[in-house]
Amino acid sequence: MTDATPAKTWKKRTRAVHSGTRRSQYGEVSEALFLTQGFVYDSAEAAEARFIETGPDEYIYARYGNPTVRMFEDRIAALEGAEDAFATASGMAAVNGALVSMLGAGDHVVAARALFGSCLYILEEVLTRYGVEVSFVDGTDLAQWEAAIRPDTKAVFFESISNPTLEVIDIAAVSRLAHAAGALVIVDNVFATPVFQDTLGLGADVVVYSATKHIDGQGRCLGGVILGSKQFIRKTVEPYLKHTGGAMSPFNAWVMLKSLETVELRCRAQAEGAQRIAEALEGQPGLSRVIFPGLASHPQRALAAQQMETGGTVIALDLDGGQEAAFRFLNALEIVTISNNLGDAKSIITHPATTTHQRLTEEQRQALGITRGLVRLSVGLEDPDDLIADLTAALAAAGA
Ligand SMILES: *Cc1c(COP(=O)(O)O)cnc(C)c1O
Repeated sequence: MTDATPAKTWKKRTRAVHSGTRRSQYGEVSEALFLTQGFVYDSAEAAEARFIETGPDEYIYARYGNPTVRMFEDRIAALEGAEDAFATASGMAAVNGALVSMLGAGDHVVAARALFGSCLYILEEVLTRYGVEVSFVDGTDLAQWEAAIRPDTKAVFFESISNPTLEVIDIAAVSRLAHAAGALVIVDNVFATPVFQDTLGLGADVVVYSATKHIDGQGRCLGGVILGSKQFIRKTVEPYLKHTGGAMSPFNAWVMLKSLETVELRCRAQAEGAQRIAEALEGQPGLSRVIFPGLASHPQRALAAQQMETGGTVIALDLDGGQEAAFRFLNALEIVTISNNLGDAKSIITHPATTTHQRLTEEQRQALGITRGLVRLSVGLEDPDDLIADLTAALAAAGA
């Protein structure tokens, strides 16, 4: 196997196409799918040696590592500017792996309150059951972070842009507060994508993705990845994940690896569409709010512009007529499909209060700004003019 190590000068798009490529003796152009659980040793002595010390391009068992998975890990690490990466079966395996691998009873964690439901479950229900203390803060309020972070705080956790109300967290400022207490900064960066934000450069220590979203980007496979220093990935994350079974399948890694070649182009086209759609919808009758980090009206527009190259690919819309209007709007759409994924080539719309955030109480939803009229729109790769026409017609139908 030969290895394409990225040149330091390579830009993101070049890394996304070439980094991590390993070629077999056949010299294939497209990366090979090594759909194998195990690996054969030349001799008993060779097996023994590999179990004592596994070389950088040697494998034992696919739960520990696999050449196709390794190609995906190296390519996404190069794209993110991270030293190393560990690929997981899903985004939640990545969130769980990053947190559980480093925390123990008696540790303290501070997290933003506005979180993806399953992330909230890990922090609220899982970690606390094993003796980890978790404090929740309003992620946009630096004074709350400052008050909550203590000398025994081991980690802070937040989504750089929250789901579904698109609050932007000040990564540099929160990282400074966390690092002063010696805490690790773990960021779920799904909404900002690996393309639009230099999350590690802003001060985060560990970045987590659900690869199910923009990285696959075509609604096919579940996957996740944890990115960080070689030390954290190989000494903290890998031992936990390789023994607890959170590894990504070689097939999914192959799909994700090929998807990385186009992730930058897709995300840019989707973000461009989202910007145009947000501008076209803002102020239209029937909508009380259009929330999008790329709009001047976003409460944290300046911070968003400082941290991110674009406003992202997701828009939240609040309909005047509450749930009835929101349902009429969803049901009247012809191009945009009703589903709960995001980052897909197909535009997708969700009503969080009755689906992804149904588990929360009405008060919790109110506190997070998830009203009955709120819908989350993930902008796909369709022509933005067609999407604007579809959304505008459905808004008119919802108001009728
Ligand atoms: C989807 C998502 C996850 C979970 O990812 P899965 O691949 O579905 O396990 C975690 N965090 C955020 C912000 C997400 O959008």
